[in-house]
Amino acid sequence: METKWIKMLEDEPDMPAVKEAGHIIRNGGLVAFPTETVYGLGGDGLNREAAKKIYSAKGRPSDNPLIIHIADMEDLKMLTKEIPEKAKRLAEAFWPGPLTMIFHKSGQVPFETTGGLSTVAVRFPNHPVALAFIKESGGFVAAPSANTSGRPSPTSGIHVYEDLQGRIEMLLDSGEVGIGIESTIIDMTVEPPMILRPGFITEEMLSGVIGNIAVDSTTQKQIAGMAPKAPGMKYRHYAPRGELTIVSGSSKEVKEKINGLLKAAKEKGLRTGVIGTEENIRFYQADIKMNAGRKEDELTIARRLYSMLREFDEKQADVIYSEAFPGTGIGQAVMNRLLKAAGHKVIQAGQGGEKDDSNRQ
Ligand code: AMP
Ligand code: MG
Repeated sequence: METKWIKMLEDEPDMPAVKEAGHIIRNGGLVAFPTETVYGLGGDGLNREAAKKIYSAKGRPSDNPLIIHIADMEDLKMLTKEIPEKAKRLAEAFWPGPLTMIFHKSGQVPFETTGGLSTVAVRFPNHPVALAFIKESGGFVAAPSANTSGRPSPTSGIHVYEDLQGRIEMLLDSGEVGIGIESTIIDMTVEPPMILRPGFITEEMLSGVIGNIAVDSTTQKQIAGMAPKAPGMKYRHYAPRGELTIVSGSSKEVKEKINGLLKAAKEKGLRTGVIGTEENIRFYQADIKMNAGRKEDELTIARRLYSMLREFDEKQADVIYSEAFPGTGIGQAVMNRLLKAAGHKVIQAGQGGEKDDSNRQ
């Protein structure tokens, strides 16, 4: 199949193209579309055959549930058995926006969409193209991130095209997204509600509205024998093809350690890459250097993360070392994704030893 690739401005959805996209979804086809977080691979959320097509286009295991995107608060009722009071308050505060909530699903939602679970993930995104597209599609667009399974999530139309050309009917492309990291997921079926995946909406922002919340402990480290509660988080996600290792410690120790590691890798004939803050990047002796932004500018680091990982693939890095970033605010989400991309390989600089977090408590 030929993928129709249509470019438009974020604030000016190309309505004839968006209508055509909606028509494709209502007929059971697939369309990739931009949101404020990352690009989504959309199909009709109430059509089991469309869900199956999404899994196969992405090469995604079918036990990994999709998020249903809505464009009208009223439509939440159709998807859920009940809407808890706290969910109403979070919706009021953060929808439309980068927050996904988990509910007990209604009979309307096919198990194919929820990966066999009796719960459903719902998000009301805040992006003019996404909202126009969801409305034209009938109101319920099931979508995971629009990457091939295992690759970093797409933060621009070209990333989607690279991964999915020939596998979807259409791509609505409005250029680079604003946030660059997937939505925060919070499970509203448990008490207290629990964060399953950190994102732009932080724990502090959520508890500011509903008080006490829990955080799935697997979001910041891998715990032996414990699977993350969001099924998708158990897979090795977001991975570049080169071997990625995170180096943490003081700025001086990290620079020395990374340069030592780069030198050793070069001696083995490997092509090297590094991810560093703007303050440090010029000190590194690597073949490929990526400037993640200023250390305190977590938003820029978040927005650049996935495209940096993809660029290492393009430039064929064999080994990549990354500085660790501060784990506050959206920095927590950045570290969560970086740890997953690195398969939890972390080296502590300046302490003589190496700490491989990948298989430990
Ligand atoms: P993606 O949009 O590619 O990040 O994929 C959607 C994410 O939402 C995956 O990590 C899923 O595991 C998670 N998710 C979707 N539905 C549920 C659910 N009912 N319960 C827990 N996690 C879910
Ligand atoms: Mg994904």
